[in-house]
Amino acid sequence: MVRERIGLLSSARSRGCLVKVLLLAIFCFALPITITALNHFPCTPDEKAEHVVTVDAGAGSPSLKEVIPAKYQKRYLKWKNDYLSTDAGREEWERYTLDPKFTLTITISREEAEGARVNGLHWDATGKLIAATIMLGSKLDSGYPSSFNYPITCSLAPGNLPSEVKGTILAATKLAHEFGHLNRMMNMDGRLYELQNRLMIEYNRIFHANGLNAQDPRLSELVRRMDGTPVSIAQERESWAEMGAILYLQERLQKDRDAKMPQPIREAISTYYLTYPGRLQ
Ligand SMILES: [Zn+2]
Repeated sequence: MVRERIGLLSSARSRGCLVKVLLLAIFCFALPITITALNHFPCTPDEKAEHVVTVDAGAGSPSLKEVIPAKYQKRYLKWKNDYLSTDAGREEWERYTLDPKFTLTITISREEAEGARVNGLHWDATGKLIAATIMLGSKLDSGYPSSFNYPITCSLAPGNLPSEVKGTILAATKLAHEFGHLNRMMNMDGRLYELQNRLMIEYNRIFHANGLNAQDPRLSELVRRMDGTPVSIAQERESWAEMGAILYLQERLQKDRDAKMPQPIREAISTYYLTYPGRLQ
């Protein structure tokens, strides 16, 4: 697949990229609290009746709520167990589920389809993330995102993994990607994150109202305040999330497992580390 680098919003191609990014962002963008209510997990009546909270947090104990409709529990456990079959997956999982100061909720729904996202973010007064919800689609084991912002997950494209495990590994990779989002959020000030979410909406409103003119001084001021354009911020967030996918895949596709590291995935990881050498582990 063709890989693209995202530039400034000063050309027709870049404007096309913006639209593309905005669409891709729906895949797993951590939505701002200000619009969370509009995108809240829309339970259908039958799913609501089947919701099962499988883990209950006791006083002072780690908090994990897995709100999984009964009809999706089998597939959810399959994806989760594959993720937890790696040390990397277990370490990420325990980082949040064993933290008594953090509340992690995991849900699965038909509406998310092949995608996933982090939602329901809560920050304390110092800007530290203290709660989040990972929303998984019921078809998480199918569908490959574009390489544009998801070069690692995309590299699992059909044909790159054995058919008997490719769906499970794909789903676990998407779950790992969402933990990558959490990791990034945990390492940044939530006040900046929220500011970016608010200003990106404002930026896009102005950008589309002014005839897609990225040179608008109002946009320059917004870029200064949120430290990037909506495109660059989305790319930065997704690239960090892809680190979660890398950590899982590097271990999951080792020689002693049922699937070896295919060349396209190996190349995608190498390219990632060339692009972000500071993240090399
Ligand atoms: Zn993402």
